[in-house]
Amino acid sequence: MPDNMTLGEKLVQQGISRRTFLKFCASMASLMALPPSMAAEMAEKLAKLRRQSVIWLSFQECTGCTESITRSHSPTIESLIFDAISLDYHHTLMAASGTAAEHAREQAMKENAGKYLLVVDGSVPAKDTEYYSTIAGISNYDMLVDTAKGAMAILSVGTCAAYGGIPKANPNPTGAVAVSDIIKDKPIINIPGCPPIATVMTGVIAHVLTLGTIPDLDELGRPKVFFGDTIHDRCYRRPFYDQGKFAKSFDDEGARNGWCLYELGCKGPTTYNSCATTKWNGGVSFPIESGHGCLGCSEPDFWDKGSFYKPLSTGEWGGGQILAAGVAAGAVIGVGAAFAARKRQDKASGGK
Ligand code: SF4
Ligand code: SF4
Repeated sequence: MPDNMTLGEKLVQQGISRRTFLKFCASMASLMALPPSMAAEMAEKLAKLRRQSVIWLSFQECTGCTESITRSHSPTIESLIFDAISLDYHHTLMAASGTAAEHAREQAMKENAGKYLLVVDGSVPAKDTEYYSTIAGISNYDMLVDTAKGAMAILSVGTCAAYGGIPKANPNPTGAVAVSDIIKDKPIINIPGCPPIATVMTGVIAHVLTLGTIPDLDELGRPKVFFGDTIHDRCYRRPFYDQGKFAKSFDDEGARNGWCLYELGCKGPTTYNSCATTKWNGGVSFPIESGHGCLGCSEPDFWDKGSFYKPLSTGEWGGGQILAAGVAAGAVIGVGAAFAARKRQDKASGGK
């Protein structure tokens, strides 16, 4: 895409109809809890958008976050929006390597000082930084600090960048930390998930670019529009939970009947994310719909919180110990866990 082409012109070139584009904007506006009237405004702004410089740094990570955003069924409007973004530097996706790659980063930083969006996936080693995860001889720590200086805002995508994630799991040999543990003077939006949902990443970027603002964030720096509800709040198996109908194994009659997966370790009651509504693979399904409980991957330290296959009522997960006292039935504890999580969320948002 030539640098002077707008997204609107690009869509015409790609044969995407205005109707399809408006539909996408309407669903984005709805996802972002914006009034329907904003859809047209968003479409107008997005259509006029010229290439936004984006620098994407990948640190201690597994490439799952990048896979998530690039392995969408193509062509999608989301991918077109990414075509419209000038991804000036991305370790994994760029053709250049070595000195040429570093030159691309430095050039993008210089040409777009104060205006580029910095996306980070992966956590940052804060111990022995010169040895762990260096790129072109530059430590992750130094590269983050250097690149953050001229950024308009930072998107920490994935649980690793948002909270430290799996590299931070006990015993955390590299002293892994989140981006927000290091950078204190820039707006940071956390989009956790292991990996995060592509639509959520696109939605947040669209919000920043079209409205020029940072979306409302919760106490963990996550956009409330995508992380305002627990999986449990919106789960289609919830009626079974409320009736006390639980699958006891992955191949019993309850599992075949689609009953609640709480007793098989589902962490949906304490996990904030939009998997149950946005879903994955272009809205096809999400883990619970495929028969597996939620792992809680968009919550901090999910890897160290206890077994994925033990119910919340065992008290292993998060604040479960407090909730476990004196309560015997799993469903009751689940309500307690969900209630405690909700209280934490309400407190963070001033009770709104
Ligand atoms: S958050 Fe998950 S998918 Fe993303 S880099 Fe970390 S381990 Fe990989
Ligand atoms: S416990 Fe899990 S499977 Fe059951 S209703 Fe809640 S989110 Fe859905």
